Amino acid sequence: MKKIAIIGGGFGGIAAAIRLRARGNQVTIYERLNKLGGRAQVFQRKNYIHDAGPTVITAPNLFYELFNLLGENLEDYLQFKPLDPWYRFHFNDQTDFDYGPNRENMLDQIRNICPEDVSGYLNMLKESEAIFKLGYEKLAGHPFNRLATMIRYAPAIIKMRGYQSVYSFVSSHLQHPNLRQAFSIQPLLVGGNPFKTSSIYSLIHALEQKWGIYFCMGGTGKLVSELENLMIRNGIKINYNYDVSHFSTSGNIITRINFKNHKSENYDYVISNADPIQVSGELLKNKKISFHNFLIKKYAKHSMGLFVLFFGSVKSYKDIAHHTIWMGPRYKELLKDIFDRYYLAEDFSIYLHRPTRTDSSFAPKNQDSYYALVPVPNLKGNQNWDEIKESFSKKILEELDRTIMPGILKNAREIFSMTPKDFKENYRTPFGSGFSIAPILSQSAWFRTHNQDGRYKNLFYVGAGTHPGAGVPGVINSAKVVEKIIYP
Ligand SMILES: Cc1cc2nc3c(=O)[nH]c(=O)nc-3n(C[C@H](O)[C@H](O)[C@H](O)COP(=O)(O)OP(=O)(O)OC[C@H]3O[C@@H](n4cnc5c(N)ncnc54)[C@H](O)[C@@H]3O)c2cc1C
Repeated sequence: MKKIAIIGGGFGGIAAAIRLRARGNQVTIYERLNKLGGRAQVFQRKNYIHDAGPTVITAPNLFYELFNLLGENLEDYLQFKPLDPWYRFHFNDQTDFDYGPNRENMLDQIRNICPEDVSGYLNMLKESEAIFKLGYEKLAGHPFNRLATMIRYAPAIIKMRGYQSVYSFVSSHLQHPNLRQAFSIQPLLVGGNPFKTSSIYSLIHALEQKWGIYFCMGGTGKLVSELENLMIRNGIKINYNYDVSHFSTSGNIITRINFKNHKSENYDYVISNADPIQVSGELLKNKKISFHNFLIKKYAKHSMGLFVLFFGSVKSYKDIAHHTIWMGPRYKELLKDIFDRYYLAEDFSIYLHRPTRTDSSFAPKNQDSYYALVPVPNLKGNQNWDEIKESFSKKILEELDRTIMPGILKNAREIFSMTPKDFKENYRTPFGSGFSIAPILSQSAWFRTHNQDGRYKNLFYVGAGTHPGAGVPGVINSAKVVEKIIYP
């Protein structure tokens, strides 16, 4: 039995705690906030409830597995409700496309938009399934801390044309610009520009097709709280309001964990769910770090920032789907503004979440609760978010009012927002990025922060900044990778 500390209680930290407890270790979580979940916080304003972060549950089997590992059954505590449609795309030409589980219905819609794209779509699906077999089944849960592993898989990645972007991959199959947008947005869900992110990430499409998309009844907050109960029932100790300030080291070992507000502790293994760049920069300040982590700290390309607008509505917009992707007038150039020029443009695209479509507990009867998530430049853009957040919020509501939610300007209540500045302050994420470092090929697999530190052998990483990457399935898989390293 080892004494193991987990720094941070996001989904990566939670999954690591459960896996290592199931192996019989003594596991303690230290979380600097007063609750678990990390980005999966819950906000309440008057009677409107909002999940603040992840809402789309893909690969639900990963959660079933966590309960099973501790001999329990997820269905005794939680219900994952399948959604249909998964996403509604609302394009700038005011047409809609419902992407969902009914294949025939989806093919009919594709036929109406562009008949030639039906066969293109089927070919694309076949290719994404092959990419899924390599990228998800083989690579996502596999340790990439050895260069030899990267060399072993490189030919397969090249054969799958992992060097091309998701957008190029989609465009090689589909002709219509709206469909090209709809089927290439997936990298944005994990912090990547579809024009720069490796086509390996088109595996997300196959993953959605294989397992579907779910909503956790009661919200992601309920999911976090049931995982918390599961951990407590099974002897995992959770310490809230413990802010790790730095590590003490001796040779290639972390000897003590020091906190800003509590006395220091020693552990056999330290698993960091804090962003790896925070570890290299602050927790290991003035200590030697591996060359690999030094390069990442100095040169990494970070994911975009997120502006998240939360609001209730006294009117229920019954025709609004659970998830709407509202596309603005520009795609490629808007993404260049966000990712390359760090410029906050006049136009934008929105991911709109309406949980009240599926679960009425999020708002009073016949009312709605929403969040509108807009990709924006991260803090490298130097925008003064305190100054602009009010006007930016108004612009988002105006665009929704003008298009799919007439009257929302007057019906919206309890409006508030989170900006990249809040991401930096609340989650300690470098540059306030939404998803740690971007999922480009040169920052994936071996090139990402390794799950075991290159210098300190008892230090491991889980979460969005390490392999395999951001998104709930990614970070839960990162815990599987750490378990495989500790128990080869
Ligand atoms: C708005 C938004 C919407 C999203 N939507 C989806 C979605 O629908 N589906 C999906 O799959 N993914 C989604 N994602 C991505 C997904 O939420 C994240 O990739 C994932 O939750 C990150 O988990 P993590 O384990 O990396 O940790 P985080 O959630 O980043 O948590 C890390 C934890 O570590 C703690 N911590 C940091 N430093 C310290 C320290 N020094 N001492 C103690 N504790 C510390 C933090 O307080 C935090 O609680 C979304 C993300 C955002 C922001």
